[in-house]
Amino acid sequence: MATASQRKTLVARAVRAKARAYAPYSRFRVGAAILADDGTIIDGCNVENSSYSLTICAERNAVFQAAAKGKTRLRAIAIASDDPEFLPPCGACRQVLSEFNPAMEIILTTRDGRTKLTSLARLFPMPADLKKLARPRSIKRK
Ligand SMILES: [Zn+2]
Repeated sequence: MATASQRKTLVARAVRAKARAYAPYSRFRVGAAILADDGTIIDGCNVENSSYSLTICAERNAVFQAAAKGKTRLRAIAIASDDPEFLPPCGACRQVLSEFNPAMEIILTTRDGRTKLTSLARLFPMPADLKKLARPRSIKRK
């Protein structure tokens, strides 16, 4: 659980990260900020590409940057966009977030500053999780 103060900071960081979005095609800016267990906050923004399918969401950008810094124990994420409604993470981002904490807190915020607290467990109750599957220890080859 993030504290009320940490949530407020996460929202401010997500809004700040949104300003750095690279979205020349959609003009739809998104920012995210993730809180690691050690208190570190890592930002991310959406980064679009001329080859549209290579675009990365703010949430995954933040998670990958966190992992690159050795932060894989993630507690909470705030997500900010220019939309007047709350923007929940897309399916791909939900799966990626669940890798690092299937119960992660999610703080959604609108362009007007309204916030909504939810959780990944609520938004994505049944992720694919190889850690929970029975797998053979080795694959025998002919
Ligand atoms: Zn996404």
